Formats: sequence, structure tokens, C-alpha cells
Amino acid sequence: MTTLTLTDALTQTDNFLLQSIPKSDLHNHGMLGYRREVLEQHYSADLKEPPAKFHVFKEFEEYLNHTLGPYIPQADFFETSLRNSFLQAKVDGVRVLQMSIDSRFYYYLPGSMMTDMVAKAHKECAPEIAFYPQLGMDRAHNFNRLMHEVENLLDTGFFKSIDLYGDELHGSVDDFVPIYRKAQQMGLVLTAHVGEYGSAESVRTTAETLQLSQIQHGIAAADSEEVMQWLAAQKILLNVCPSSNVALCRAESLEQHPIRTLFDHGVRVSINTDDLFVFDQSVSDEFRNLHTAGVFHAAELEQIRQYGLQAFES
Ligand SMILES: [Zn+2]
Repeated sequence: MTTLTLTDALTQTDNFLLQSIPKSDLHNHGMLGYRREVLEQHYSADLKEPPAKFHVFKEFEEYLNHTLGPYIPQADFFETSLRNSFLQAKVDGVRVLQMSIDSRFYYYLPGSMMTDMVAKAHKECAPEIAFYPQLGMDRAHNFNRLMHEVENLLDTGFFKSIDLYGDELHGSVDDFVPIYRKAQQMGLVLTAHVGEYGSAESVRTTAETLQLSQIQHGIAAADSEEVMQWLAAQKILLNVCPSSNVALCRAESLEQHPIRTLFDHGVRVSINTDDLFVFDQSVSDEFRNLHTAGVFHAAELEQIRQYGLQAFES
């Protein structure tokens, strides 16, 4: 029996074979890891479609608040979203999943309720997936409340990594150094969203300040040879989300996406979904799109697939 390769799968016009190839999704916000239709069916609701482009980050936040705001306080929203995110990942052939769980749900699910629910959803929906629960922090959240939630959630010992997101240009990452040092001492993988809206220099300074081993987006690094050389030498993995970057106007088009420049400079990149709920592209779709757009050959996509699958091996 011959083993199916990514090259074989990409020669097919549909994604059936591509979905059977093991892949990773390392940049996946757990409340948004499934398609909109799933939530529409669950709540018998008609959800607003996102615009093709979000010109400023605020528009994106407003879309999420408007669309999901009424459902977040529902008793079953957290569990329903999680379960659907696991099921989506499983169907798409994701075998290594780093999924962020926003700390704010601690308010609705205190103690170990939240982490117990995540563990149960993994076990029941997708036990074959190597799952790396990521503790997600929003920069815009009240800082004292955020630290209270995060300290308590870290103490559960459940999380394998930590992430910081929201408006990248809001506040300073210096405030987060103590919590990153604590997470580091506990052996967590350190990641943060940077270089989506910020500069190449901000990618390096944030990675140095927080001592990151993975960066969510980081695409602005493509503007600096020096920063790319540094990232390549440090073997820092950039978890890139091409469709998200195009929709948020961080890349002109898929064809002109900076992931090509990063890869050519030896920076390790992986391909991820970010928010499937909004951008509607699975990991398989993202691989297909980059191939169809002529950004990467199949052999290069195979290298990228390996970078993702090996993210936690070291
Ligand atoms: Zn993200």
C-alpha cells in the first residue's frame, strides 16, 4: 500500500484527500473554530455575514460583538462552541491542535468547571487529536480582572501554552512579563499575537520581552531582513493565517501574502485558521488556496505542514 502524500491530495480538485492528510492548527480561537452555519442551526438564528474586508481592527471586533454578543451569556454557548471546534478540526484532518480558550469564560465557569468542560469536549469529540490547550488573554480586558482569571486558570495545571491577543497597538506587553514568567516556569509554550498590525521591530522586541517560542501572525517581520534572520536563527515558529490576513487588510491578496518572503528567508511558518467562524476557511482550504494561488509548490507546503506538526517536539 502506498501512502497518500500532500502532493497527491493537491492534484485532486476537491478537498476529500487533503482532509485525510494529518495537519496542525496552532492558531485557532476555540470559540470561533467552526462554521457560522453550525451556530445558526444550533440557535435557529440568522447570523449576519461578515464583510469581505475589515478595514480597521475595530470593525472586526464590532462584527464579533454584534454577531456573538447575544449568545455568549447563553448557558451552553461555551460548550457548544468548543465541541464544534473539535469536530471541525477532526473532520479536516487536524492532528495537532493548539486552541485558545479565552480567560473571560472563567467568570461564567469558575474553579475547574471551564477546564473540565474543555477536557470532556476533547475526549468525547476528538480524542485522536494531540490537543494543546492554550490560555487566551485579551489585551483590552480589564487588567486586574484578567490577571485574577489567568492566575487561577494557570493554577489548574491544565494549560500547555499561553497567548495574548486583541488590539496589538493597545498598551504595552511589559505589563504581561510577570504572567509570562510564571507560565514559563510552569513549562508552558509562550506565544502572543504580534506583527499583524505592528512593525517588524515589534515582532522582535515582543518575542524577546516575553521570550516567545511561537508567534501568532508575525507577518510584519517580512519587512525586515534583519528580523527574519533573527527569527530563523531562533527557530521561532510563526503561526500564519492567510485568509484572516487578507480579510483584515494585512495582506493585499493571497498571491502577495508575505508568508512567501518569510519562508524564503528560512523563517519557520505554519498555516492556520484563526477564526473559521468569520473567515470560513479550514486548514485544508488554506493549503489548497496557497497552492492554487501559486504561492507555494506542493513540496514547500509539505515542509510547512511538517513545521506545524513538529511544533511541540523539542
Ligand atoms: Zn488570532
